Amino acid sequence: MNRFLATLLAIQLSVGIAGCATNPITGRSQIMLVSDNKAARYSAQAYDQLLLNAEKQQVLDEDPATVNRVRSIAQPLIAQAAALRPEARHWQWEVHVLKSDQVNAWCMAGGKIAVYTGLLQKIRPTDDELAQVLGHEIAHALLSHQAEKMSRLQVQKLGLGLGVLAGAIAGYNLGGVAGLADTVATVSLQLPNSRKAESEADAVGIELAAKAGYDPFAAISLWEKMIKVGGSGGPDWLSTHPNPEQRLQSMRVKAQQLMPVYEANRRAP
Ligand SMILES: [Zn+2]
Repeated sequence: MNRFLATLLAIQLSVGIAGCATNPITGRSQIMLVSDNKAARYSAQAYDQLLLNAEKQQVLDEDPATVNRVRSIAQPLIAQAAALRPEARHWQWEVHVLKSDQVNAWCMAGGKIAVYTGLLQKIRPTDDELAQVLGHEIAHALLSHQAEKMSRLQVQKLGLGLGVLAGAIAGYNLGGVAGLADTVATVSLQLPNSRKAESEADAVGIELAAKAGYDPFAAISLWEKMIKVGGSGGPDWLSTHPNPEQRLQSMRVKAQQLMPVYEANRRAP
């Protein structure tokens, strides 16, 4: 706990002046006490450590065919991410597969992506559906949701459940990560996003996927599968959304709007 407080203080000292920023994609004003660049730097540090630990535990990229599949689906999405937000072109994008029972995937600030084998095995996503998973996660990063969560945490100070914060990432021991990176990883991966952030990531994720040539309606079939599988997901993929039907309905509207974009960029079967 003391370590956490020290980390929080370190963030405040390193960040300096408080502020808000308008997100270039949504136009929404976000509290940004922690800049995207800082969040990306700390994420990179946490990600490296996590990969190192995963490798030691022999849960990193076990099946080359699976890794290739996930990377080849991610690649066109990453290209579209850069088109949507030019600075993403300079991010050091990485995609890895982690062995874990959790139905989860995430993209840290700065483009550090992981997909869990639990998601692949329990959901059995088609390529279009997996593209929707990746699109949604990439959208969270493009929309600065991790930096926003960290900033909000600073404002709320210790109002959040510290039990959640104290947790390791999905069972991976991050014991070797000191200070800021530890906090960044925990905030990025353990704390759920707000409903507003989820709606934004849904919309931008489907758009990214359509531009990359993936079927927008795969977002709906994906979420239907997620709901069926139920409460075994990680924070971002729990089916405990207060109104899943409404969420699906918004996605259907968005998917319909994006059909011409998809048709224009459609990938060969
Ligand atoms: Zn999400």
